[in-house]
Amino acid sequence: MTRGELTTFVEALGLPKYRADQIFRGIHGRRLLGFDQMTDLPKALREQLDQAALLSTLTVESKYTSSDGTRRFLMKTTDGRPVETVFIPTENRDTICFSSQSGCPLKCDFCLTAKLGLLRNLTAGEIVEQIIIVLNDVYGGGAETPHGTNLVAMGAGEPFLNFENLIKALEIMSDEHGLFIVPGRVTVSTAGIVPKIYEFAKLERRPNLAISLSAATDELRDRLMPINKRWDLDELLTAAKTFEKTLKRGERFTFEYVLLGGVNDSDEHAEQLVQLLQKYDLRRAKINLIPHNPAEQLDYHPSTAERVLAFKQTLETLGVSAYVRTPRGRDIYAACGQLAAKDVQSASFSSLNAVNRAL
Ligand code: SF4
Repeated sequence: MTRGELTTFVEALGLPKYRADQIFRGIHGRRLLGFDQMTDLPKALREQLDQAALLSTLTVESKYTSSDGTRRFLMKTTDGRPVETVFIPTENRDTICFSSQSGCPLKCDFCLTAKLGLLRNLTAGEIVEQIIIVLNDVYGGGAETPHGTNLVAMGAGEPFLNFENLIKALEIMSDEHGLFIVPGRVTVSTAGIVPKIYEFAKLERRPNLAISLSAATDELRDRLMPINKRWDLDELLTAAKTFEKTLKRGERFTFEYVLLGGVNDSDEHAEQLVQLLQKYDLRRAKINLIPHNPAEQLDYHPSTAERVLAFKQTLETLGVSAYVRTPRGRDIYAACGQLAAKDVQSASFSSLNAVNRAL
């Protein structure tokens, strides 16, 4: 619930309005996951709230820590759907990569999450709770986050197919009485749900946008990201241009490009990419190059380090800013495109299959 909704809820229980602020601060400021922990409320009220509402809905099933410090959390909803969240520490800031859906309906050919299919959209509460659970695990319950936190909606799912819940969750998380993670610290990544890019462009307080591209021709993108058959490159880049026009001074946006060895990583592909950006006059776009993260069941392999560098240099020589995203947490299946409710120890799809069987 937003603070406004919580106020309505509290008033409907016959309680004064200030209780709503207290409860909101307890959940989102102190990151408490049980009414019984809100010791600033009378005991009778805590019991009343326990009867009337469910505060926490996710359970952490397992947690893996990578040799690089990345932590991957495998959670479950009350109806048994898997939710994955990844904590990525870096020197200057920490990033939490959260999921917007359980599974994903899109069928990007290089992504392990795609194998799950869509299980269901996550609620706004389930999105916010992922962040609370991770922050508590990393820093301790309610403790200050030393570096501030950036959020990326790049876990399982296509955020723009769960648009309302996502926007509501972001509104709740940006509240200054709670987590206070402002939209500028959040990046939402879409595979190209074009109508929602237009809708997103109209939002007043909105996060940063990343568009996953991964191919500069329709022929290749149709194969790698079948969503391209619904909205092709022309429609996608036209929407991106409309979005670009709404950027404020100094703001930029991102195209993500997963580099797949021998598939989309030649100099010619880099040149095609630059030509595409030029055709739509996209001057404020930067390219994030994501070396593919390998996984069994996927027919792709990563580009060599030399190829990644050469691709980047071709883009830069032609005037496009490009950055290489260092893969994190590959050893625990926490890296991009690897989130598929996978149990690390088994090194197989047993848990994924178990999930599918259970459904
Ligand atoms: S890359 Fe993203 S949009 Fe594509 S299938 Fe995977 S989770 Fe879904």
